[in-house]
Amino acid sequence: MKVEKKCINPSCGLTYSINNDIYRCSCGFLLDIEYSKIPNKSLIDTFFQRLNHGGNIFNESGVWRFRELINFIDIDTDDINECSKYFVSLDGSEGRLSHPYKMSKVAKYVDMPVDNLLLQPEGYNPSGSFKDNGMAAAVTHAKLLSVKKLICASTGNTSASAAMYASNEGLDCEVYIPKGEIAPGKLGQAFQFGAQVIQVEGNFDDALLKSLEIAKRDGGYTVNSLNPFRLEGQKTIVFRILEHLNWNPPDWIVYPGGALGNISSCGKALMDLFAWGWIKKIPRVLVVNATGANTFYELVNGFFESTKLQWNNGLPDTLLIERYYEKQIKDKHVPKTSATAIQIGKPANIIKALRTIDFTNGIVEQVADEDMMDGMSSVGLNGFDCEMASGAVPAGIMKLRKKDIIHKDDIVVGVLTGRQKDPSMIIKYHSEKSNKFAVPPIDL
Ligand SMILES: *Cc1c(COP(=O)(O)O)cnc(C)c1O
Ligand SMILES: [Zn+2]
Repeated sequence: MKVEKKCINPSCGLTYSINNDIYRCSCGFLLDIEYSKIPNKSLIDTFFQRLNHGGNIFNESGVWRFRELINFIDIDTDDINECSKYFVSLDGSEGRLSHPYKMSKVAKYVDMPVDNLLLQPEGYNPSGSFKDNGMAAAVTHAKLLSVKKLICASTGNTSASAAMYASNEGLDCEVYIPKGEIAPGKLGQAFQFGAQVIQVEGNFDDALLKSLEIAKRDGGYTVNSLNPFRLEGQKTIVFRILEHLNWNPPDWIVYPGGALGNISSCGKALMDLFAWGWIKKIPRVLVVNATGANTFYELVNGFFESTKLQWNNGLPDTLLIERYYEKQIKDKHVPKTSATAIQIGKPANIIKALRTIDFTNGIVEQVADEDMMDGMSSVGLNGFDCEMASGAVPAGIMKLRKKDIIHKDDIVVGVLTGRQKDPSMIIKYHSEKSNKFAVPPIDL
């Protein structure tokens, strides 16, 4: 089978070998991973049977269980020795427990029947966020290139995940973080897993620029979501959703939007499955921004220069994006939300994300910090914890229910992107009795 990286710009279409860490085409657009072979639909049974993993960690892993669909190494996937020579896994734990669950309290909060709302807690991953799905694949590619050091910028969870896999694989790891802007639980993980933490004055966008600059100068393999192998791994989030629904797509899939890697990956998964004839219906993707970090929301909905930014068959108005960023600088506007995982002003995957919105007839909504806190708290009442950025999912669903864009009888699946890593926020929320779900403590 031929596997290549291909420019997402249809009027360019340049291809690149996968034996390097180029992630951007010479024309400036990002790259996709392209497989020459169409996978056989009978694999659906194989994936299901692997749930009885019999001690095989590549069947146990919720990522590598779908290995034929992300087989960029092009190996014999039935041969366990071959698998263990190449595939990076934390003992089969990535994606293993994250599949859709019903949550009655959240359903009540968003005003939907309990059977119609499903939420997938990606916080059940080994480092506590969906990033592990993508990181297992990216580090697999890094090992193929025999690199010694992983590099990333992070709002916290990417660094936790990269550091975890790096230490497990004996690689060095350098993480660039916006100083003082990441949750203590996430920063603690980077230290604990032995990464070199580098604190950058500024926000995530500044940290990403710095990390890319240093990777270029000194070497090191970038594992941010610009890396198309990250997005291949994250496609399994969608595969697990669809498998749970017997491969009948829901009406909606809902994500918080930060760097927009996750929704780009979702779009790629759906485009592939549709092209292969595995699915007939395309779910609508809802992306939820924080009001304090709403670049995608403003551009897509035409709140900047009264022009709606669109995919436009691969010819989006990139100058509009540039002018938006220039205006942000001129106005000294910096992204600001307590949901630090999505506190991003320049989403690196914005063009790929536009393609997802176009392909799925998607919607971009925004929600306030208070609503994310309520959304997060409603999830907690069902015995699942998630972090504030994930709370954007119930909050966004509720907002679209109120506008009756999401209907009561729609089937909606939301991705709860990460586990709670800043308990101080919850304690503060519950000490204030005016908060919707607060149960203030009693002092005896
Ligand atoms: C990274 C992250 C996001 C944002 O995902 P993107 O792919 O950057 O849009 C949202 N929630 C959590 C918990 C995250 O760690
Ligand atoms: Zn190109």
